[in-house]
Formats: sequence, structure tokens, C-alpha cells
Amino acid sequence: SPRVVIIGAGIVGTNVADELVSRGWDDITVVEQGPLNMPGGSTSHAPGLVFQTNSSKTMSEFAKYTVSKLLSLEQDGQSCFNQVGGLEVATTPERLEELKRKRGWAQSWKIETHLLTTDECLELYPLLDRDSVLGGLHIPSDGLALAARAVQLLIARTTEAGVRYLDLTPVTNIERSDGKVTGVTTPNGSIPADIVISCAGFWGVEIGAMVGLPIPLLPLAHQYVKTGSLQALATPNKPANGADLPILRHQDQDLYYREHGDRYGIGYYGHRPMPVVAASLGRTPTHVDEKHMPSRLDFTAEDFKPAWEASKKLLPVLREAEITDGFNGIFSFTPDGGPIVGQHPTLDGFYVAEAVWVTHSAGVAKALAELLTTGRSEVDLADCDLARFEEVQLAPAYVSETSQQNFVEVYDILHPMQPRESPRNLRVSPFHARQQELGAVFVESRAWERPQWFEANAELLQDLPAQWRPVSRDVWSARFHSPISAVEAWKTRTAVAMYDMTPLKRLEVFGPGAANLLQRLTTSDILKHPDQATYTLMLDNGGGILGDVIVARLEPDSFHVGVFSPTALDYISRTARKHSKRNPNQWTQVRDITGATCSIGLWGPLAPSVMQALQAPDIANLPHHGFCKTFIAGIPVLAIRLSHVGELGWEIYTSAEFGLRLWDVLWAAGQAYGVVAAGRAALNALRMETGFRDWGADMTSEHGAYEAGLGQLVDSGKEGCVGEAAVKGRSEGGALRRLRTLTVDDGRSVVLGKEPVFYDGRAAGYVTSAAFAYTIRKPIAYAYLPGEVLDGEAVEIEYFGRRIRATVTDEPLSNVSARRERP
Ligand code: FAD
Repeated sequence: SPRVVIIGAGIVGTNVADELVSRGWDDITVVEQGPLNMPGGSTSHAPGLVFQTNSSKTMSEFAKYTVSKLLSLEQDGQSCFNQVGGLEVATTPERLEELKRKRGWAQSWKIETHLLTTDECLELYPLLDRDSVLGGLHIPSDGLALAARAVQLLIARTTEAGVRYLDLTPVTNIERSDGKVTGVTTPNGSIPADIVISCAGFWGVEIGAMVGLPIPLLPLAHQYVKTGSLQALATPNKPANGADLPILRHQDQDLYYREHGDRYGIGYYGHRPMPVVAASLGRTPTHVDEKHMPSRLDFTAEDFKPAWEASKKLLPVLREAEITDGFNGIFSFTPDGGPIVGQHPTLDGFYVAEAVWVTHSAGVAKALAELLTTGRSEVDLADCDLARFEEVQLAPAYVSETSQQNFVEVYDILHPMQPRESPRNLRVSPFHARQQELGAVFVESRAWERPQWFEANAELLQDLPAQWRPVSRDVWSARFHSPISAVEAWKTRTAVAMYDMTPLKRLEVFGPGAANLLQRLTTSDILKHPDQATYTLMLDNGGGILGDVIVARLEPDSFHVGVFSPTALDYISRTARKHSKRNPNQWTQVRDITGATCSIGLWGPLAPSVMQALQAPDIANLPHHGFCKTFIAGIPVLAIRLSHVGELGWEIYTSAEFGLRLWDVLWAAGQAYGVVAAGRAALNALRMETGFRDWGADMTSEHGAYEAGLGQLVDSGKEGCVGEAAVKGRSEGGALRRLRTLTVDDGRSVVLGKEPVFYDGRAAGYVTSAAFAYTIRKPIAYAYLPGEVLDGEAVEIEYFGRRIRATVTDEPLSNVSARRERP
């Protein structure tokens, strides 16, 4: 097997070693700068609370695996997990509702939970203040990870299996040659390696700098205290770190609690963010103990004052107690709260697994080990892929501001549509000024400003025919939403609308190897129809969907490729580099031209009239998926007849300097046909009505083409593409689960995504996307359901504890007639 060096013997590094060794890899060295018995990183003082429920399926899967692994990791009859259960309490009506939403996620990800009344909370946790608690969520399988002990047991187990551990050995450089890692440098010499995995926790930024890789994490100090002994917690024979009560979260005050024998441990996120530069901490001393380690800074008592007052209110026994120990412990935060897992984009063999909580540690390690040994992880990694960030999001100022914001919001109730407040206006399309004039309400996505709807269209609300009028929404789903989207949907279906598609990624893939590369990476024969763009899929070797792409061959060796995520760009670029290296005569280059170009989707039944008015017949006459390079009013453009909304029209691209003029020209020509500018809210509804899947939500690497209902994008005659063997013989009919469209029976209950879907009384799937489908005047949702579920069958969606009846419906939806453009 390859020679592997893992940097860091915290909970992540030791788990990665263990997961690799258990998969048969046998040349592994773990290099740790601190002493092995207590390395001094975040793991060395982690209180180890494991709350598994997360809005991200991936994170919950990681946590579930961590729990099962720590339960199985035992010595002398004692495992590394104390499954005392978890209790989250609500002290405000908003939190009580939020707990219902959280229970929805738990049901979606198959974690047992129970909503509790005040009485039930007190029965489970008698020390709570009855007057404060409105209710709670009990998760019986949560509990306490004995993280430091787990590290020691993993070191022992893996050492026995042949893993070498070098402690008191800082890695000072990463050695490389010809685009590949070759080893690591330490004060005691070099250690050769084919694969280097940085599991350096909050030191990740420093390790990344050794290979020119910006790591978007920020080390922040977080306060943790222990009280003196409390009679109320004392039980006979309780170990010093023992606990009987569930771990407790009081998120309304940014607090969590556990027992350490007869003392309370209290963690607090409500204080000011306290960023730390890891390099400033100096070298880890040769002796580390509980109170002296690099990841432990002095306690700032002033910051903890509100926490102590709130704690005494929630747990009145604390009024008799005092704080006997406190510290500001350091760990990593990231711009979106997710961990950072993946490969260096250009240095082969360099991997990272950082910004990982104890909660997710074994799960992340398993996924990374799978990726290394088989090429794919069972759990989708999009939420934690290093490549999910755009370059601008790697800027230190961006990372610092957004990670601090993430710290501040870590326990906040966040609406899924809630836009980031700052930093904003980092990336705007050339149409931005016009969009502002039209009262665009922007949301931020990957640092782009994207119009959600346009206030200027409000005046059209009075003209909206009755059958297009939106229904009133509940308070939660009405947030960050406007009925104006109904106008924009109506105009798209009945006249014509302009959509800013600039933020969707566009690549130029060119060179003598380009055609072969794209043939290899996609499921369709992209050369079959030279005059047409191909909408196709990229699969991994297990058949999981890595992305959907639109490929147009502009020249024999040059392709325009539309992708929907930075991870797809990373995948295509990496593979292009590999192929080019292997066969230099057949090189391929990949250029991200997104920022240098722009794109307008002009869609609607009157779009052809607009194009005729502009005297662009070559665009107007394009067949489905046809494309051409031409001029519109003297502006050089590429137009592809494709649609995300199911209406006839084109995506029209030009370089950035012509963008504003292109907008103005289309806008002026569209006036006679009632053109409107339309935003993402309308787009989302219309694309769902038409059956268009969003990668990352409706399809991920956990889903195959047939499951996602995209079997038609797999060219059965095509050979030699990635994933071919895995999809061979599969069919829609044989899929164990399939993405289905649900229409909500009451015609008005709008859900937002990730809610559990019940079939035959049990949670059988979850909502991947949802919208109000204006064309049929009903809310709709997509959900993966067992393959045997038939059209017309009844299901229920649980939304804030309420069951909403829905019907499984055939695609395309009635009223969204077949003549409309398919994706
Ligand atoms: P670490 O444990 O920091 O390990 C990284 C290792 O890399 C270190 O040992 C370091 O010495 C080594 N290293 C770094 N640079 C080099 C180098 N150049 N050469 C060699 N070795 C190097 N998480 C939870 O899930 N639940 C909780 O309740 C919880 N509570 C927390 C409370 C506090 C106060 C803090 C600070 C953190 C808490 N966390 C919690 C977070 C959790 O502790 C960390 O996310 C986790 O321990 C990180 O593990 P790791 O292995 O990535 O990092």
C-alpha cells in the first residue's frame, strides 16, 4: 500500500490511521508535535458532548458513525462513549418550534428523538428550573465521547497493527516533486510519503501554508468552566469524569452542560469571538498536562459573567456553587460551519481533514479512508469538501469575518433562506446596476449577489390572474419570501423573463485531449450531435452523481462546459491535469471563465418574438439544445437553447464588458412583449415544476442516475466512462429508492426542505427541495421514496411537528405540459 504520513495524533488523526489500517493499508506513520499521552491539541481537553442531530445529513451520518465506533472501542469492559442521552431545552416559544424542526431532521436522518413537555423534561433532568423550561428534545443515543481515552486506545490498537507514531516531532515542511508529495520534513529528518494527510486541527492553516494551500478555518477560543463539587450530582462510586444525567443544551443562552463526577462542566458560545493565530502559540512543550497545553488559554472571567447568571437561572443548584476552573480553549471554525476534508487541488497526495468536531471525527475519518482506498466515500462529502469554497472565500479577511460570524450564530435559529449580512457585494454580475434599479432583493451565494425577486414587479401583482395568485404562507415559510415571485413565474410562463445566470460556473475546456476527457467523465456521448449541447451527468466509480454538466463543442478541441458547483470544477481540472501528465500530446486545459463572462437566461413563450425583433434568426431558429456563436445588436454572444424553467429560450453568454449592453438590448427589445426581470425564487419553483434536479440537494454522490430519475442521461451504448460498470444493468424500475415529486393536498402548506416524509406510517424519505408550484397552484416537494411507491399514493410530510398530506405525482406535472422544454 502507499506510504502514508498523518500529521497530528488528535481524535481525527488517530481515527484516520485506524480506518486506513482496518482497510488493509500497512505503511502509516503518525507524526505529532506534542507528547503522545497528551498531545495538547483541542482533543486533549474536549468535554466530548456528542449531539448527533444536524441540518446536514452528512454531518449527522458522521456523528452516528462516531457514536457507534466509540461504543465499540473498549478496554476493561468500558467503552469510549457514555450514552447518557442528550436533552435540548427551550426557554422561548421560538426555540420550542425550532426543536420541532430539529426533530424533523432527526427523523429524516433516522435518529430517535422525543419532544418532551416541561414535566417530562424535569422527570428526565430534575435539576432544571421548571419556570424556565417550555419543553425539550430528548435524543436517547447522544452522549459523551471520552475523546482523550479514545485517542489512547486507537494509538494502542493501531500500533499493534503496525502504525508508527513519532511524538515530540513537529512537521516543518512538506516535501514534493513533480506535482506530488514525497514526504515531510521534521527536525529529526525526512519521512518519505506518497500520501500526506493533515489532521492538524487548528494548526491546519500553518500546514496548508507549507504547500501554498489556503485553509479556510479560523482558530477561536471558546470558554469552558468547571464548578466545585455539588451534592446534587454526587452519587456513590461515580468516577471523576462520570455522568448520569443527559448532556444538556440551553441554546437560547448559548450554553451547554455536562457532569464531571460531582462537578458541572459548562461551555459558552455567547462571548465575543476571540480569534487566535496558531503560529503565535509557539512550540508544544515536551510536558503537557490538563492545565498546560497550547490549546488552552487563560480564562477571561469577565466574558463568562452572563453565562454564569443564565446558568444559575436554568439550574438553580448552581446558586450554591462556584467556578473553580475555567479556560479559553481553542478550536476551529469555518465560514459555513462545516469541516474541511479533501485534496489539494494541484499537489497530488496531499489531503486535509480539519475543523472536525469530536462528534464527527470517526465519521470523517471513515469517509476519508474510503476516498483514499476506493475512490469514493459512502457518505456525500459536498458539505465538507475543501473544494466547496470559491477563491474569494479563501481570502483571510473573508475567512476571519465569516468564521467569527459562524461562532456567534452557532446556536442561533437560522432560517434556510436567511442571507448572510456581511461581507456582501464581493461578486456582482455586469447587470447589477440595472438589477438595483429594478429593486432586486439579493441573496448571497458563494459570494455572488443573486436577485431573489424584483420589487419593481410588485406593480404587476394587481394584474395577476386568479389562478396565479399565491396562497398565504405560515410565518416561517413566509420569511425571506415575496409574493412577487408569483408575478415573475406567471410572466415566464405566459410572456418572457430575463434571469441572471452569471453565477453558474462556466468553464472552457480545451486542448487535443479535451474531447476524450469529457467523454470519459460524462455519461452521454457528447460528440454524437456536434451542433447540440449535451446535458449530462458525471458519476463516481460507484455510480454516485458528482454533478450535472452542460457541454457544447465550440471547436474540435474547445468546449464550453456549464457546471453547477466548484467541486465539479475541481474534479474536472484534477482529472485533466492527470490525463495531460500521463499523455502530454493529449493535454487538456480547464479555465474557469465565470467571472470574465456573464449569462442571461431569456425564457418564455414570447422569447422567440424578442429574438426576432433583435434580428437574430440564427438564435431564434436553434433546435432543442442547439447552440451558435453570433451577434445580438453587435454584441458577440454564444447562445444555447436550453432552459431551467421549462419554457422556450436560451442561455446567452457574452464576455463581462458587454454584459450591461446585452442586458439593455434584451430589455429594450422585450418591452413590447412584457418582459420582466425574474429572480431565483421563481426560477426554483419553475425548475421544480419541470423536473429539473438541483445537484447538492436533489442528487448527490449518494444517489445514482436512475434513482434521481435521470436515467435518460446515461447513454447505454457508451463505453469507457467513469461509473460505467456501476450503472450497467441498472434501471429506473429496479431502483430501491427514487426521487419523486409530491404535491401538497391542502394546496397551501409550503415546506422548505429536509423535512421527513412518511409513507405507510414510517419515515421513508426526506424532502430534498420544495417550492410553491405557481403553474399548478400547489406546493410541491421532491423526496427520495422507496422504489415501490406508486403515483397517486399518499404520503405525509412532517413540518414543525404537523403532518401535511401529499400525493406522489407523475412528472411532468399536469399543466406543465410536455411541449415545454425539458432540461
Ligand atoms: P487536535 O486535537 O487539535 O489535534 C491536532 C494535532 O495536530 C495536535 O495534537 C497537534 O499537536 C498536532 N499538530 C499540529 N501541527 C503539527 C505539526 N506541524 N507537526 C506535528 N503535529 C502537529 N467537540 C465536540 O464534538 N464536542 C464538544 O463538546 C466539544 N467541546 C469543545 C470544548 C472546547 C473548550 C474546545 C476547545 C473544543 C471542543 N470541541 C468539541 C471541539 C473538538 O475538541 C475539536 O474539534 C477536536 O478535538 C479536533 O480534533 P483534531 O484531531 O482535529 O485536532
